[in-house]
Amino acid sequence: MMGKDESVRLRRSSIVVVGSANVDLVVRTERHPAPGETLLGTQFSVHRGGKGANQAVAAARAGVSVVMIGRLGDDDYGSLLRAGLRFEGIDDRFVGTCRHDPTGVALITVVDSGENTIVVVPGANALLREVHIRDAAEADVFVDSAVVLAQLEVPLAAVRVAFEYGREHGARTILNAAPAMSVPLDVAILTDILIVNQHELQEMTGVSELNSALSAARAIYPCVIATLGAAGARMIADGIDTTIPGHKPLVVDTTGAGDAFCGVFAASLCSGMTLDTALRRANAAGALATTVSGAQPSAPSGTAVNAYLAKE
Ligand code: ADP
Repeated sequence: MMGKDESVRLRRSSIVVVGSANVDLVVRTERHPAPGETLLGTQFSVHRGGKGANQAVAAARAGVSVVMIGRLGDDDYGSLLRAGLRFEGIDDRFVGTCRHDPTGVALITVVDSGENTIVVVPGANALLREVHIRDAAEADVFVDSAVVLAQLEVPLAAVRVAFEYGREHGARTILNAAPAMSVPLDVAILTDILIVNQHELQEMTGVSELNSALSAARAIYPCVIATLGAAGARMIADGIDTTIPGHKPLVVDTTGAGDAFCGVFAASLCSGMTLDTALRRANAAGALATTVSGAQPSAPSGTAVNAYLAKE
């Protein structure tokens, strides 16, 4: 039977995303340049990105209402990103504008095999403070939220406070511990579900073998999901050890696969789906995201995820 807490959570309809918004400057080349080497690229494009905004967009396209908390610069890139959030129907009231720091930028190199390397310059994202989270809380954004979703491209203190508000209001807290780093205990103990790729899992646990690293993470987090690229994903929680195989998409660009996975996973839980169903949908969304270039452009709609799963 559904407990009281669960039924209250299911009546809520929104996700709060606490995270970064960056402009992605993407170049395509045949292969990665060696240190000191100059290569001629074949394409250049500018996309809206940042793990926070990407996941917010993926969740919004999956059909749930999303409030984003973050920071932009007072520049053209900031305007581009804000317009993008609004276009997706994301509530941007708590995405503030910094006067002196630039909008975050990610320099992305995609090679012909579909693999990428990324250098992020955080800019305004690094100025997200606890007070900005408190402002949002005072406007009751956590009251209606079923899920608080965060990544590690904004200061940890902001994530901690957001998770505290999330817990206080009975929301599920999901941490996508990316980019790779060890997570301090005060944030870890406020996290209900950890989502990491294999590299991030190794980095945060200091353990390279997958099963041992998962056990190490499970000692701290109630539910751990490791995304395994083409091999799909694995979820471990109390009484659950599920491996879901990867789909076989025609890979164009893997940028944003993890973000689509996280956004759709969070949206699915927000819509009242089980962990297993949310995992299945997230795995399909991650695969679909590899078939389109760029991070935000590749986040699939809820209809596209349904159609993909129906073909299984
Ligand atoms: P990240 O994008 O954070 O590096 P992964 O590479 O693990 O994370 O990808 C996230 C998810 O996207 C995977 O769990 C899987 O569902 C999907 N995915 C990524 N790459 C592929 C691929 N080549 N084939 C099928 N699914 C993929």
